[in-house]
Amino acid sequence: MGTGSGTHAAAAGAGAPLLIGVLALQGDVREHIAMLEAVGARAVAVRRVAELDAVDGLVIPGGESTTMWKLATAFDLFEPVRKRIAEGMPAYGSCAGMIMLADRVLDAAPGQESFGGIAMTVRRNAFGRQIDSFEGPIGFDGLDGVDGVEGVLHGVFIRAPWVEEVDPAVHVSARVTAGPGAGRIVAVQHGALMATSFHPELTGDLRVHGRFVRLARAAR
Ligand code: GLN
Repeated sequence: MGTGSGTHAAAAGAGAPLLIGVLALQGDVREHIAMLEAVGARAVAVRRVAELDAVDGLVIPGGESTTMWKLATAFDLFEPVRKRIAEGMPAYGSCAGMIMLADRVLDAAPGQESFGGIAMTVRRNAFGRQIDSFEGPIGFDGLDGVDGVEGVLHGVFIRAPWVEEVDPAVHVSARVTAGPGAGRIVAVQHGALMATSFHPELTGDLRVHGRFVRLARAAR
C-alpha cells in the first residue's frame, strides 16, 4: 500500500479528505475528477499501479468497456484493479464502468473480461438502437442521504447497459420508470461498490458522487 506516493490518504488520518482515483485509460475522466472535487474529495487520474496503490477508492468512467479492458491489460492494471476491488476498495462505475464492475456480462466482445465485484449480470448496449441514447427522470433510492427515500435525478443514457439480474446481496437503487426500458435496473449498490447505467458526471448533479464519497469514507 502507498508505494510511490508520499501522500497516501488512508495514512493521513480519518479527518483527511479522501483520495479518490479515476481510472484514466479511456472515457470521461475529467468530468468525474471535477465532480469528486466538488463534493470534497481529492481526485487523481490513475494510469499506473503506484497511483492505484495510493487511492482510497476508484471511479471507473463511462466510455467503451472493451477498450478499457484491453488498455487495462496493456497497462498492467487489469489484475491490480481486480485485486483491490476484491479486497474491498470502494468503487463506482458509470456506464462502461458499470460493465467493468459486473461479475457477469452479456453481449460482451469475444474474450472481454470485467474486474467484477458486483454480483450481477449486465447486458451491454441493452437499450437497443432506437433508444440507444436518451434522457429522463430516474428515482434513485437514498440519493439525498436517506436510505428508503427516493431522490429524482435526470438520467443521461448513452449506449447504456442495464442490469439483467442481481444476486440477493445487491441493493437495487434505481429502475427506469417509463418508456421501452421501463422496470429495468439502472443503479445498484453492493457493499462499497456502486454502479449506474447513466452518466451523472455529465449533468452537474453532484448527489451520486456525494453518495459514493460518503460510502468510501465510511469504508475507510
Ligand atoms: N456501450 C459501451 C460499452 O459497452 C458503454 C457506453 C458508455 O459508457 N457510454 O462499454
